[in-house]
Amino acid sequence: MTPMILIRYGEIHLKGQNRPYFEKSLLQAIVASAKKFDGYVEKGQGRYYLRKVASQDIPQAIDAMAKIFGIYSVSPAMEMDKNLDIIFSAAADAARKKMHTLGKKNATFKVDSKRSDKHFPLNSMALSAEAGGYILNHVPGLKVDVHHPDFIVYLEIRESAFVYTDIIMGSGGMPVGTSGKGMLLLSGGIDSPVAGYMMAKRGIALEAVHYHSFPYTSERAKQKVIELAQRLSSYTGPIKIHMVHFTDIQMAIYEKCPEEQLTLIMRVFMMRIAEKIAKNCNCGALITGESLGQVASQTLYSLAVTNAVVDLPVFRPLIGMDKLEIMELAKRINTFETSILPYEDCCTVFVPKHPVTHPKLDKILKSVRLLDADTLISDALNKTETIIAYPDHKSDIIVSK
Ligand code: ATP
Ligand code: MG
Repeated sequence: MTPMILIRYGEIHLKGQNRPYFEKSLLQAIVASAKKFDGYVEKGQGRYYLRKVASQDIPQAIDAMAKIFGIYSVSPAMEMDKNLDIIFSAAADAARKKMHTLGKKNATFKVDSKRSDKHFPLNSMALSAEAGGYILNHVPGLKVDVHHPDFIVYLEIRESAFVYTDIIMGSGGMPVGTSGKGMLLLSGGIDSPVAGYMMAKRGIALEAVHYHSFPYTSERAKQKVIELAQRLSSYTGPIKIHMVHFTDIQMAIYEKCPEEQLTLIMRVFMMRIAEKIAKNCNCGALITGESLGQVASQTLYSLAVTNAVVDLPVFRPLIGMDKLEIMELAKRINTFETSILPYEDCCTVFVPKHPVTHPKLDKILKSVRLLDADTLISDALNKTETIIAYPDHKSDIIVSK
């Protein structure tokens, strides 16, 4: 009898001809994540088996697997030969252990069996009935309740036999990379990491661009963004961050452009630079954390301006969400605590008192023409450094300056 992890996948079942491609991408993500636990991954029918993970690492490995997009659910299981005595004894052990974790002396249960090996001597109903009887005889304090049991003992007869009591829901969605790659405009705020998470869930691989205004923004503000990317990368795999020095552009806008347009013109530059980097890195879309009406630069009219200055599609997955909903999701994906650390963001350095809310594209572009945009942008790109964020906290490395 050996402890292992059962991994089920969901939506990729639906993908018809593309299915082998989706399965391969998912397998790659599982293998990459399992490496940390020295796990060995094998494909079964409609599922993967993760074996050879040390018992003490299984809870952590379950956590890591449940985060991978494309995985529907995960179960820590015992795997054994298809021998009835061994299966029954494992079922009783599992029930005992579950009673213990529930902290109950008396509980109700049922057995749920699946037999895909039709040569196995008992059919599913008979197997559940016999295993249930065995558990009742060997584990004190239990009663059967088929409608509302406190827990279920699952038995599966496939290539081998599996016994488990827990099904942990995975992240769902599609394997990262199967929908192409997007460039996430990643600020230090609450919204953009959530936006990245939502698009990654739909199969988009992420690179990120961050604008900092050193020395107006601190080194720690930059670290905060790296930490956010690290947290996101536990779902997506390593994320490359392009750190763009934005100060000179902001200063130029501040000096030459009308005060009420500052934020929007800054956003025009952000979009244009992000698009340049995106095209260089084979990203097919830009992703932002904008939500309609949240601030002046996110009115319908402002968004129309930032859309109009780039050719790539701009994905704004939070567009229809309330701040509270976004915050809930940020908490669930574990980015919230980092996002609320109080470091300055470049957008908060130069804030107009009365920003435009009904901008006209031609007026904004006229103001942009007061600047030498091409030189400003190419200077900023020349000063861009690239950092890779890994899920493991210590492993960000600078690959170029
Ligand atoms: P967030 O919480 O994501 O910072 P926000 O509500 O504060 O969003 P804005 O500051 O207007 O809104 O920014 C809107 C979007 O622009 C962000 O979600 C992000 O995608 C992008 N953005 C803003 N500041 C930066 C930055 N310094 N670097 C990269 N992208 C940024
Ligand atoms: Mg912000």
